[in-house]
Amino acid sequence: MSDPENYTVGWICAIRTEYVAAQAFLDEKHERPENVSPRDNNDHTLGRIGKHNVVIAVLPYGGYGISSATGVAKDMLNSFPNVRIGLMVGIGGGAPNRKHDIRLGDIVVSAPSDGKGGVFQILKPAADSPANGDKWTYGRKPRLRQKYKRPDPRSDRLYQSEVIHPPTDEANCAAVCGDSLSNLILRPKRTENEDNPAIHYGLIASANQLMKNALVRDTLAAERDVLCFEMEAAGLINHFPCLVIRGICDYSDTHKNKEWQGYAAMTAAAYTKDLLYRIAPNRVEAERKINDILSSVEKDVKEIRDDVHEARNTIKDLGFKQSSAIIADLDNTLSSQPRLYFYFDFNDTSKQTFESMIRSLIIQLSCKNEDMWKEIHSLFSSCEDGRRQPTRDSLCKVLLQMIDQVKEVWIVLDALDESKEEKAPLRENLLSWMKDLLNSEQRNVHLLVTSRPEQDITSRVSKFADKNDIVPIQSNLITADIQAYVHTRVGEDKGFKRWRARTDVQEEIEIRLMEKAGGMFRWAACQLDTLADCLDYNELRDALTSLPETLYETIPQFLAFSGRPLRIAEAVDAIVVKPTGVPYFDTKSRMPDPQEISRYCSSLVVLVSKKGHWHDEGDDEDDDEDDGSNKDDKDMEL
Ligand SMILES: [Zn+2]
Repeated sequence: MSDPENYTVGWICAIRTEYVAAQAFLDEKHERPENVSPRDNNDHTLGRIGKHNVVIAVLPYGGYGISSATGVAKDMLNSFPNVRIGLMVGIGGGAPNRKHDIRLGDIVVSAPSDGKGGVFQILKPAADSPANGDKWTYGRKPRLRQKYKRPDPRSDRLYQSEVIHPPTDEANCAAVCGDSLSNLILRPKRTENEDNPAIHYGLIASANQLMKNALVRDTLAAERDVLCFEMEAAGLINHFPCLVIRGICDYSDTHKNKEWQGYAAMTAAAYTKDLLYRIAPNRVEAERKINDILSSVEKDVKEIRDDVHEARNTIKDLGFKQSSAIIADLDNTLSSQPRLYFYFDFNDTSKQTFESMIRSLIIQLSCKNEDMWKEIHSLFSSCEDGRRQPTRDSLCKVLLQMIDQVKEVWIVLDALDESKEEKAPLRENLLSWMKDLLNSEQRNVHLLVTSRPEQDITSRVSKFADKNDIVPIQSNLITADIQAYVHTRVGEDKGFKRWRARTDVQEEIEIRLMEKAGGMFRWAACQLDTLADCLDYNELRDALTSLPETLYETIPQFLAFSGRPLRIAEAVDAIVVKPTGVPYFDTKSRMPDPQEISRYCSSLVVLVSKKGHWHDEGDDEDDDEDDGSNKDDKDMEL
């Protein structure tokens, strides 16, 4: 019988294909131990690779995702307390770009980011590594060959990001998307001297949903240098510090196919085996047990959280202060009192909802007072240690409990009119929360709210707020703001550089715009965008004499009347529709670079990321099913 104490390497797979691949690389298989922890629901395989005893576990069928990976890791550590090296090995979606020539079957390894590589410092494979080529043990297991062999290299197609696989078409890319050179990104065949599969070291991003959006992929690859997307490691890392190794089976776009999954699982497992061969057992013994690491990690995590919150808070404060003269003033007069700010911003979906406001206020208050952490901790544990999101009511309750503990607090909510709520009636929650707060016994709260005088807001607020507390800000103040803005842009913007020597023209622009702005900041900003493109005086004068009267005339009509934010692809198509043209619509007229869409009236139209909701335990996805939605998707919005 195997003794659980002998196993020092824990290897976790997400799906059966990966599990089979992992088992294929065991040098010998061991019997199951007599006793495992009664709380352990895992299906374990025990064995030896090189000089290491390895325990391999797989997520329960259908349990794809972060939370089930965490459960498997916990069970494994209960039954095999001596595990010192954690490995998460399997398949993932690649994010190839000019910098990283990632191909199907390649391997991406997440280099430890703490700067202490530990046993993983030796990441480069040996020249004769099983990962370098197809030297696998099909000989022993010929039945694996069909599913796990290297597919025909011609089926490794990287499509241009805007080529979308028809969502309803199950057929493979060869049949549907084809091999047309205009659709594909051409990459030279790898030469004899190049590693094939190649191994890439860098960032692996974890998402709650399968990444299948090429534009989001490209953005994250460019901005964060992400090389690969997967679905389990993020939650796991907190409970099971591990090296993440992924064989690339697709390109995280709509062209999902299963053809490469078997092979990619094999390359990842082969690399892992090679890695284990090169780690001496005494190096492993020198590592701390993962169970021991975890208890100290918990302490660190709390400290890091504090830092992050502090940093976030500072950033929020900065953004806010720049936006509002009121806040700067408040800061001077109330420097000793706790002040909490929230700034509704329609450029950012995370700053539009009632819940995000409450969360932010809680974080800010807790940063000002260490004692308040216990409220947050008890909320955290009441939500199954963060596996469930707290309800709106429980968040509000925690905020009130925290407010109770301070002598006096100032809450400033700026730009209420930019708040949005997709499901509940617009602003309803926010306004009734304000009402409750004002009517409550809570006498230590001061609430300052700014907003444009929109009808629903003024009528609701006037019902519960004292008339003397509602102060209209004179429109001449706004006019002065707009004037200062226009003056600065005309004087300093690149687009107006050509008029730098012509003060008369600069003056004319300012006068004309101020005549018509009528308190509309965004209108003025939008006209400046247009005027900046006028190359000569005639063109400029024509533009100035035909300035649109309203915001609605300024923007593309389809955006003004769209009931919801448009996807980039939809907006690109809408722009080329010619209601009186023949034909109405021609795909040839599409703009070649969809990302440039925001340049149509850039002051009014913004690209926003629509973030998905938090992962819920009940909606784990099977690897066979996608719901087509993406965690992070860009929409156009006014
Ligand atoms: Zn396709």
